Amino acid sequence: MTMRAKVLFVLALVISAISITTLPADAWYTQLRPGQSPTHYFLAELSSNALHHFNLYNHDAIFKGSNEPDDHGLQDHTASKRRSSQSFDAAAKKCAKGDNYWAIRRLARSFHYLQDYGDPTDYLRGGRKDYVRQKAHEMLARGQYVVSNNYWLNSYRHFFGQVANRNLQETLDYANSEAKQIGREINSIYDLWYQRGRRQNEVNQRDGAVRQKLLASFGLLAACQDRVVELFDQRCKELGEGPPIVAPPRPTPQPNFDYPSEAAPRPPVRR
Ligand SMILES: [Zn+2]
Repeated sequence: MTMRAKVLFVLALVISAISITTLPADAWYTQLRPGQSPTHYFLAELSSNALHHFNLYNHDAIFKGSNEPDDHGLQDHTASKRRSSQSFDAAAKKCAKGDNYWAIRRLARSFHYLQDYGDPTDYLRGGRKDYVRQKAHEMLARGQYVVSNNYWLNSYRHFFGQVANRNLQETLDYANSEAKQIGREINSIYDLWYQRGRRQNEVNQRDGAVRQKLLASFGLLAACQDRVVELFDQRCKELGEGPPIVAPPRPTPQPNFDYPSEAAPRPPVRR
């Protein structure tokens, strides 16, 4: 190697090391800045029909709510299930007060955590994770590509039938277990390709099979989100019709889960 070649080689190593360490740690490769790839928002939009149906559609509230958790730098998805149902409860409280905008925004935030909990790409090994997340984003960003796809529609119908009678916790768990299964299937597609000697002329076939699994996972999330919207409408009506809430004489301190930023709920300050 000449000196110049050595310098270029080291430079290439440094650049690739930097790009590996700065890859977004968030699920679904959501990145708001730079380059704007709001994957969570696109996933939330898959439920726009259900949201419209229950008069819960507001573009700004859905965009902001679905991206809020990552916008505030939250990278830990271990608590996704709990946070999704906390956001649902926060949304229901806003709805009971007649605050439709914040109800929708909090509902969209609960979608985000549902999407994190039901993210099949979380289970992908090695470099394929980022590759598949990028593919997922490209598919979702292509306008009507996903929702006009029959495979997506059939997956959606199948999964919606499966969650039709589930409550919120069961729906979240179902999203998680099916996402794990889809993740295993995507890993198998890659493993088979490796076993066959990583042939370049089979990359398109491999990616086509992966795209189909992603369409299934989008169908899963849309079905679970739509179920959440149904449950939300019920909850909101129950709260609206219920007897006036009488404060207990000595209220037990409750952590405030409707936190404005996505930092973990802080204990109330005692004075
Ligand atoms: Zn997230």
